[in-house]
Amino acid sequence: MPVVTHLECSRCRHRVSMEAPPAAVMPPSFCPVDGGALLVRYDMEVLRMRARREQSAELSARPGASAGMWRYAEVLPEVTPVSLGEGWTPLLQSWRHPGLLIKDEGANPTGTAEARGMAMAISLVAYFDGGMQGRPPLAALSVGVAAYAAAAQRKAHLFLPRDLSPESELEAVFYGAEVHLVDGPAEQCRRRLEHEMSLRRAAKDAGEELWIDLSAPQHPFRVEGDKTLGYELVEQMGWTYPDALLWPLGDATSLVGVWKAFEEMEVLGWVAGRRPRVYVGEIAADRFAASPDSSSLEIVTASGGRVVRQDERAALAKVLDFARQEGVFLSPQGAAAAAAFESLAGSGEVRPDERIVLVNPSAGWKDGDALRAAMPLRRLGRFPTSLPVGGIITPI
Ligand SMILES: [Zn+2]
Repeated sequence: MPVVTHLECSRCRHRVSMEAPPAAVMPPSFCPVDGGALLVRYDMEVLRMRARREQSAELSARPGASAGMWRYAEVLPEVTPVSLGEGWTPLLQSWRHPGLLIKDEGANPTGTAEARGMAMAISLVAYFDGGMQGRPPLAALSVGVAAYAAAAQRKAHLFLPRDLSPESELEAVFYGAEVHLVDGPAEQCRRRLEHEMSLRRAAKDAGEELWIDLSAPQHPFRVEGDKTLGYELVEQMGWTYPDALLWPLGDATSLVGVWKAFEEMEVLGWVAGRRPRVYVGEIAADRFAASPDSSSLEIVTASGGRVVRQDERAALAKVLDFARQEGVFLSPQGAAAAAAFESLAGSGEVRPDERIVLVNPSAGWKDGDALRAAMPLRRLGRFPTSLPVGGIITPI
């Protein structure tokens, strides 16, 4: 892969080789020296020459919808894409707030922004183990990998909590993934996956099949897919930065990719000016609990933004509000970012004359079970014509 040169730590610049890794071993996610995020680095001179031909005007003339995120091929690793049409999602103008734009990542093939990272990671895995016997199975902690594993004709082993949503169960079953149900939360699933991986490594000489671990959300391969969201945003805004981004907490790691895109585009001369302030919408409740990793928190702080804690009720009310008033079915995470917009506008931290982008990381229907519980809506055999009063997200 001539243009990719190495992996580099985003903190201390420590270098890790990007040579073809040994069979079924993925490069690490974090710096061995200080734990910083490892990022794929390119020969920027070659990239600049390659990308010059595709300066913004010419790139904008390309059919976006057909190429999806792969329209940025010049600034991506040279691989044969395993693609389901991810990327080039709509940037919608809010009907009610003139400065507010909604980047709806729910329009991705698997209904989530995760599709970008998965498509790139699996394409890179196929590149690196192309010469190997067979196609080693993939191991992951989210159902998002199932469709891409099927597209790449690989087996996927998913480690999922026993109380997974019916929507996730359907996806896993239909895409043919093997599901390992785990008692306990996501952390327990990770431990089970790691245990499984180490057993297989130990028994490798006895012919045990190795799996490829795609579970780390901030793996450098996934970050290369995530970053296309940054390229897309800037292109869709006429090669300029928005003033602020409203970021969903559950998707905080993809912020690392987006920030990398901004950095690359500045070097290439595709965009200039002040990068957006990033505000992360967080729900103060266990149900959607997640915490931004240190790399994304560093970005939020450096950007001049902050984490905005939201009451669960206020956040979930935004799912209903945006569905009814804008026609956009936000996920609970996207709704937390929408609720953050309201409080930031109220305090004057974002102004009406600013251009603000709300990133909705996945389609609301993917969290159908949680939303039904919050409503509370049950399958009654008849469709409710009005929502029950007193539920968490009845209209306020
Ligand atoms: Zn480091």
